[in-house]
Amino acid sequence: MFRRVYLDNSATTPIDREVVAAMLPFLTEKFGNASSIHFFGQEARGAVDRARHQVAELINARPNEIVFTSGGTEANNLAIRGLIEANEKYGKHIITSNIEHSAVREVCQDLEKHGCEITYLPVYEDGIVKIEDVRNAVREETILITIMTANNEIGTIQPVDEIGKFVRAEKEKGKKIWFHTDAVQALGKIKVDVEEIGCDLLSISGHKLYAPKGVGALYVRRGVRLHAQNIGGHQERERRGGTESVPHIVAFGKACELAKNNLRETAEHLKNLRDKFENNVAERISDIEPNGNRENRLPNISNISFRSIEGEGLLINLDLQGVAVSTGSACSSGSLEPSPVIRALGRNDELARGAIRFSFGKDNTMEDVEYVLEVLPRAVENLRRLSPNFQAAKK
Ligand SMILES: *Cc1c(COP(=O)(O)O)cnc(C)c1O
Repeated sequence: MFRRVYLDNSATTPIDREVVAAMLPFLTEKFGNASSIHFFGQEARGAVDRARHQVAELINARPNEIVFTSGGTEANNLAIRGLIEANEKYGKHIITSNIEHSAVREVCQDLEKHGCEITYLPVYEDGIVKIEDVRNAVREETILITIMTANNEIGTIQPVDEIGKFVRAEKEKGKKIWFHTDAVQALGKIKVDVEEIGCDLLSISGHKLYAPKGVGALYVRRGVRLHAQNIGGHQERERRGGTESVPHIVAFGKACELAKNNLRETAEHLKNLRDKFENNVAERISDIEPNGNRENRLPNISNISFRSIEGEGLLINLDLQGVAVSTGSACSSGSLEPSPVIRALGRNDELARGAIRFSFGKDNTMEDVEYVLEVLPRAVENLRRLSPNFQAAKK
């Protein structure tokens, strides 16, 4: 029986019904501008404040440390550019990894054109930055370390707690250095706690957490100076001008509340789905290589390289059978280059091009997994039958 199975939850998630219900009044009768003094404005202001509390609570921050943005990309831009612009007198060297999301990587590349020096740390075969490399990369002029909490293609969790501890120790010695982490993928799957991490800046996004696209936030630790990137409005304590999208912010707040209440059960459900999937794939399909560290990773992402397969071909084949997956990140899909993240693991061209990400969401079921386990081995077999390299290697 044909079925649609969505296994691309790391690209975006469906909106939770409770989230839709929470935001709906703010698309209809509660339409006020949160900056207005009258009743309509105050109603909107109250809703934004509540959402700010909900978001703050999920990451153990204070409400006034939350800056609402249009999403993760904007939060990353504001964090990195904003921090550099406000503090460049202390230095212009940035440390990052070579598996960051394009919204960090390309901001760094752009800053490089404007006089910043960037160190891109390697991640080795397991897809994890080494704390010693971070320590060794720090110089006199280093002012920012930006390393993601968990990777969006392979799910590997980075040693952010250790980096945070290291940065705090450097600060105590009087060094001017800050730590930003892109926690967009980690949020709602593992505990994300700004005090445990010890970061100064942390990016999150709504649409990876069952809220709509177009809303996110940057956590800014009290006392950290940032230069606003959106000028011309005094919203968000002068850090992000522009009339707040109240419905989106309300939705994001609700999604964070739900994520906090359900974190443990959600993570367990995701892990059960993924483990069933991975165990069966390993039994039913030969010549595959899972990508990234097996233990230290998010519970919902499975990234596998299929030998002698073009990832794009497999993706299309699966789509025809109702199964939605991705190669690389949504942002780089459509390009013919193999994923830079898989390349960063040291994978050769064949394996990099044959990589597929299966990302599970809370609405997926065991029946979904069973359906994929029927469809996937056949799709792989069919494509390999057409592959002269694979046939030759088997002889
Ligand atoms: C999706 C994603 C982003 C971008 O967030 P948007 O809200 O889509 O702009 C940034 N970083 C990571 C790790 C992501 O997965």
